[in-house]
Amino acid sequence: MQSQTLKPILVTAIPAFTDNYFWAITSSNLNTDNGNTLKHVALVDPGDAGPCIKYLEESNLQLCAILITHHHADHTGGIAELKRYCQSKNWQINVYAPENKKIAHVDVRVKDKQIIEITALDMSFEVIDLAGHTLDHVGYYSNDAVFCGDTLFSGGCGRIFEGTPEQMLTALTRLTDLPDRTQVYCAHEYTLANLTFALAVEPNNAELVHYYNQVIERREKNISTIPTSISLEKKINPFLRCDQQEIIDSAAGFSGGKANNTLATFTTIRQWINNF
Ligand SMILES: [Zn+2]
Repeated sequence: MQSQTLKPILVTAIPAFTDNYFWAITSSNLNTDNGNTLKHVALVDPGDAGPCIKYLEESNLQLCAILITHHHADHTGGIAELKRYCQSKNWQINVYAPENKKIAHVDVRVKDKQIIEITALDMSFEVIDLAGHTLDHVGYYSNDAVFCGDTLFSGGCGRIFEGTPEQMLTALTRLTDLPDRTQVYCAHEYTLANLTFALAVEPNNAELVHYYNQVIERREKNISTIPTSISLEKKINPFLRCDQQEIIDSAAGFSGGKANNTLATFTTIRQWINNF
């Protein structure tokens, strides 16, 4: 994986709808002392323009890029209005999205391994193909942070709407191949429900029990559990642990048969959580 940016990035959540997070990315060391120049920001998956415009105005930020992970409306619904808003301000903006006719108002179509440069932020991202939840799904990786839409969640993974279990497992592996320290910015606060399922699948995982108790406390105070990290997810997320004996046995118990490889175990627990 190439990450050409070494500067720390700042990422802010814009909560929206019931449980979505739109992500706002700024570069931490751009000079903002010039009173006439607004600091630039990129938005990931702005499904609704309203909360984004409110955030831009309250934070005094100039939108310069939109990164889209996949075509679902709760990730793309704000694009058109945000572009109009930028035009009204005379701001240059590029919308990056994977190839799919269902996503309109796109300036740059992206594909696997492409490096996109956002000059206003002095930042670059590598595109990662994450087909599985949808066939067009991509992630954006930069500087120890990955924006992975509806692919990897804390304690879980996205529903498989268009791809196959094999594609989803491959997508998750692309993410777990990133460095352990990578911060994972997924698009939904699903953690508590995911962990309830994870505990049914792997009740003797002490790290999972510990994390579940932490998450309960955080959610009681309405504190976000995102970002998570690749290292934490490898320890607690059953969809990344389908080689573990306890999970293999739980999957076999659910399906009434033997899951004889990682993909079969993954497929079984992905079906199981749909009905959990
Ligand atoms: Zn989706």
